[in-house]
Amino acid sequence: MVHFKDLPGITGGEILSLNENSEIKYLITDSRKSFFAAGGVFFAIKGERHDGHQYILSLYDQGVRQFVVEQDISLEKFKDANFMKVPSSLAALQALARFHRGQFGLIVVGITGSNGKTIIKEWLSQLIAPFKRTIKNPHSYNSQIGVPLSVWHIESRHEVGIFEAGISRPGEMERLEAIIKPSIGIFSNIGSAHDSGFSSITEKVKEKALLFKNTPIVIYCKDYLEIDRVLYEKGFTWGHHPGSNIRIENLQIRELDTNVLLKYEGKTLKYTLPFVDQASIENSLHCIAFMVYLGYDVDRIQEGLNQLLQVRMRLELKRAINNCYLVDDAYNNDLGGLQVALEFLSHQKQQVGRSIILSDILQSGLPEEALYQNVSDLLTAADIQKLIAIGPSLSRYKHLFHMEARFYETTEEFLKKHDLNSFHREIILVKGARIFAFEHIVNALEEKIHGTQLEINLDALTSNLNFYRSKLKPDTRLMVMVKAFAYGSGSLEVANLLQFHRVDYLGVAYADEGVILRTNGIHLPIMVMNPSEDSFDKLLQYKLEPEVYNFNILNKLIRFLNGRAVAVHIKLDTGMHRLGFEEGDIEQLVDILQQNKNIDVRSIFSHLAGSDEATHNEFSERQAQKFDAMSTQVINGAAIDPLRHLLNSPGIIRFPAYHYDMVRLGIGLYGLEATNQQQDQLQSISRLKTIISQVKEVKKGETIGYGRRGVAENDMKLATIAIGYADGFSRAFSNGVGEVWLKGRRAPVIGNICMDMTMIDITGIDAREGDEVEIFGEHLTIMEVARKINTIPYEILTNVSQRVKRVYFTG
Ligand SMILES: *Cc1c(COP(=O)(O)O)cnc(C)c1O
Repeated sequence: MVHFKDLPGITGGEILSLNENSEIKYLITDSRKSFFAAGGVFFAIKGERHDGHQYILSLYDQGVRQFVVEQDISLEKFKDANFMKVPSSLAALQALARFHRGQFGLIVVGITGSNGKTIIKEWLSQLIAPFKRTIKNPHSYNSQIGVPLSVWHIESRHEVGIFEAGISRPGEMERLEAIIKPSIGIFSNIGSAHDSGFSSITEKVKEKALLFKNTPIVIYCKDYLEIDRVLYEKGFTWGHHPGSNIRIENLQIRELDTNVLLKYEGKTLKYTLPFVDQASIENSLHCIAFMVYLGYDVDRIQEGLNQLLQVRMRLELKRAINNCYLVDDAYNNDLGGLQVALEFLSHQKQQVGRSIILSDILQSGLPEEALYQNVSDLLTAADIQKLIAIGPSLSRYKHLFHMEARFYETTEEFLKKHDLNSFHREIILVKGARIFAFEHIVNALEEKIHGTQLEINLDALTSNLNFYRSKLKPDTRLMVMVKAFAYGSGSLEVANLLQFHRVDYLGVAYADEGVILRTNGIHLPIMVMNPSEDSFDKLLQYKLEPEVYNFNILNKLIRFLNGRAVAVHIKLDTGMHRLGFEEGDIEQLVDILQQNKNIDVRSIFSHLAGSDEATHNEFSERQAQKFDAMSTQVINGAAIDPLRHLLNSPGIIRFPAYHYDMVRLGIGLYGLEATNQQQDQLQSISRLKTIISQVKEVKKGETIGYGRRGVAENDMKLATIAIGYADGFSRAFSNGVGEVWLKGRRAPVIGNICMDMTMIDITGIDAREGDEVEIFGEHLTIMEVARKINTIPYEILTNVSQRVKRVYFTG
């Protein structure tokens, strides 16, 4: 048990104020995840783009009373709080985790490598759980912050800890090693990709292997020679390599599973893996090697293997029946994971109700009463209004849960008896231990996704947002454009995230877009760029703020208002020649504003016509000067004090002198740096993917598709994929112009793109029906795809049709 006053002794640092000397229960590093206020300590960490110190006040308002900071704080504002100052809050967090780890003598498995860490960790913990009480990182909490947070959860009841460690630059692994202190290691693999932080593959292996500096045994595949070279003295290895401890004699991939024959200490071991892809086969062989090393027999291991499923490595937010959302975390259920999932849930404000479908928590090692009391506290803290509890143990502890609750013995009973239509406009977290097979519940609740989906990475959105924020002075405000369905990414979900990160303004094109946001929990100010007369009622009713760009719309608005007040934004035309008042209009505009004080001018703005290109710099400068002059004239003339703003995303990067009071971020948030100077600072946020519906062999000379435009030059293999121009895969990609990506290869479009389907040439690619195909995303950048049909990334993004389901994920 650690108390606040013990911290300097453990982490270094100096106490600035100590009021109540309370016990430290929760570590908070993310300003948003603060529902564990009581007993929580906030570590204000400074990152490149993000400064935790900004959020101290808001956390204090939410009840947090203990803070570790790197700078002096005016303590009068926080009379009853504890503060400690340290040179580095991150280092203090890590020191506390090291101290905590040192209290326990459990077996710890450390996992690192390029790929597969999270999957191996999840599978291993599943395999070992029937025999040992385990703890692991929730999701992929494997970073400099994630590892300390994970290790902090070790308790004396745990027998085995399974922790993954991920790094991006030299120097990081030693710190993680000191926190994890593994007794057994697993090195998953090493990718050939050249990480920017490392000079060579060997350097990368050596750095990662530092996790095993003090570890006597490391499991790895001996076929990775670079790994073997560094770790051979400690290896317990598997592979085709004749020197492997566990040698692969035979490996046969079949339709649905894979048979392996292994030779170990003169005996032959035979396993069936429920997978057919290389990555899963490799990951499961690591798990087998580990279990064999610990002495488990073939049958036990096989029983566990049969239960393994593809791990969902992330929390997904999906649309579900009756306007519900589903947070699909159906793969496992333990306290750490539950906490992470509840935190994610608590960020989602777009739905009214908050429900959870939860299974018994198995093998926690806690006495059941204490366990379910713990669960009940978590659910209450996360403001869960409805619990659907499945499993005999939960049913025994009914009395601990005080929200609306229903109890079922089994998943089948729930599916048979519970009226699924009773879910309505709520967000439902589905979280169950593997054997409860909650995927059936997810299947019953989710809106079906027909092959094609747009995945949106919420963490990447946040990172891009922080990048642009880091370019602003502290008092410059930020408007984010969420028009056109948030550039195709989904306005509700994106707006919810932006509200959560406290941007100042949202911008939409039409009143209806604003109404949808308002009726789904978005209370940020919203500017509407194209208000029409027939939308005035709605503007007022939903507190939407119209852009006013000429006398026609201004006069109509004044007549409609009849003295009522409204917030507006005045648009000036400084050279774009789209919308806006011109120089000659200013005098009359000032007159009208003077006479109609109910027109509350919140901002005056203009738009640059060529902010992204240096060739237009002179023109942009002239626009800025014009804007300065015109807006000053309005402000002085009408004696008002509005915000001024001029710049869109590329402008933010290229014209720091013209940020004024606010900037308007658009495409940059969605991962495209339109000036192309800082693209590497942004993360791609979306990936459009579909699946193969059918594979065909076509003979030389035959034709393919409408108009017989595709011609087989040779015998070929083609695949029909489930996306067409109605989904947003433009017909301009027909006949070889477009390419898609699958199985590590590019495949050209053959013939004309149809409304709902497209044929691609997959000659020489080992692909099957049901395989995933990327249209754009990680491997085919939106920039590249746009260039192929001579358009701009904006159009590729906004073209993705609404019928394509959006899936949001984090982690
Ligand atoms: C769409 C829009 C923006 C955002 O532009 P990006 O180039 O996407 O950053 C800014 N201002 C106005 C007026 C817009 O219409």
